[in-house]
Amino acid sequence: MVNWRRLLRMSNRSFLAFIFIFSMSTTCLYFIYVSITLNSICLLFPSANTYFFMVQAQGIMLRDNVRTIGQMIRLYTNKNSTLNGTDYPDGTNSSEYLAQPTTYLPENFTYAQNLPCPERLPSMKGLMEVNMTEVPMEVIEMKFSKFFGVEFGGQWKPKDCRPRWKVAILIPFRNRHEHLPILFQHLIPMLQRQRLHFGFYVIEQSGSQPFNRAMLFNVGFMEAMKDLDWDCLIFHDVDHIPENDRNYYGCGQMPRHFAAKLDKYMYILPYSEFFGGVSGLTVDQFWKINGFPNAFWGWGGEDDDLWNRVQYADLNVTRPEGEIGKYKSIPHHHRGEVQFLGRYKLLRYSKERQHLDGLNNLHYSPHISLSSLYKNISVDLYPELAPITEY
Ligand code: BGC
Repeated sequence: MVNWRRLLRMSNRSFLAFIFIFSMSTTCLYFIYVSITLNSICLLFPSANTYFFMVQAQGIMLRDNVRTIGQMIRLYTNKNSTLNGTDYPDGTNSSEYLAQPTTYLPENFTYAQNLPCPERLPSMKGLMEVNMTEVPMEVIEMKFSKFFGVEFGGQWKPKDCRPRWKVAILIPFRNRHEHLPILFQHLIPMLQRQRLHFGFYVIEQSGSQPFNRAMLFNVGFMEAMKDLDWDCLIFHDVDHIPENDRNYYGCGQMPRHFAAKLDKYMYILPYSEFFGGVSGLTVDQFWKINGFPNAFWGWGGEDDDLWNRVQYADLNVTRPEGEIGKYKSIPHHHRGEVQFLGRYKLLRYSKERQHLDGLNNLHYSPHISLSSLYKNISVDLYPELAPITEY
């Protein structure tokens, strides 16, 4: 066998130092190589993005399983540990792994018109049946306006107690007509069981620019506030169907991420700053963060920017615990919606942009119409409508 040390005429110590430096530098080179390759794959093939989430999700699942076992051992060995049923501040808090006590009110609970509706109602039963079958809008309109008392234009409020929140549900929209009735079919009964005062706003982007989900939310907010003094805003993707009616669509002290567990990510939070799908802020919180950014044209990044805005405003995000935050997404093709590749650059300057781009630089001219279950706000969007000064 070749004696490399003798061949190179080295001392033991220098030989070890050489081996150490050699392995460190090859490891570094390997990581640089892998990250460059992953990035270019993501840019070249947008769907690879989703694939890497799945891989990441597998890793998270493994880590969580280990953590759960740890929790169980601690629970059995520590007699003083409590099983408290409160929410956790972000996706990493372990309280979600503990069994939750049932604190929902009993069936015979009596309501009073002058008292606020409770948050944990007996009508909220938990997991719901989700049916993705397409259904004509007329059928859904007829059902909910005739038999479920939804007013023309999409508002409803309970009569037997004082609703705790006046909730505007904002739904950005383009070219997804078959999704809307599926969403209403699940959401309306759920919100009624939660005894919330609600109103639906569908904000539809016309024109040929890439989809701008965030700017549509800003427009929807401005228009909704002209109707009523809403106090809670829910930012809702049209293809996200809640699976649990205990996912209470009221607001709180802190912004909330409702869609914590999506079937398309194997019911695992893809990353702890994930704020997509369905989120909610009070009107005051939304003003405080200057709304959504207007500068994200195409798919992706605007929800990450919203997360940053929330952090910079010294707020934290809460999420529903355990099974409550489960959602199914309606399978579909992205129908020509482009990925916004410039998002990473914008996200590096979230803080600088926060007070330059949002509710305060927004201009638009909407076309408004009412239908049975919602107010439709149609708007043509293009970058000149939200100019940003240099930062
Ligand atoms: C995008 C987000 C999106 C998330 C999950 C990220 O790369 O920036 O907008 O919500 O992926 O799909």
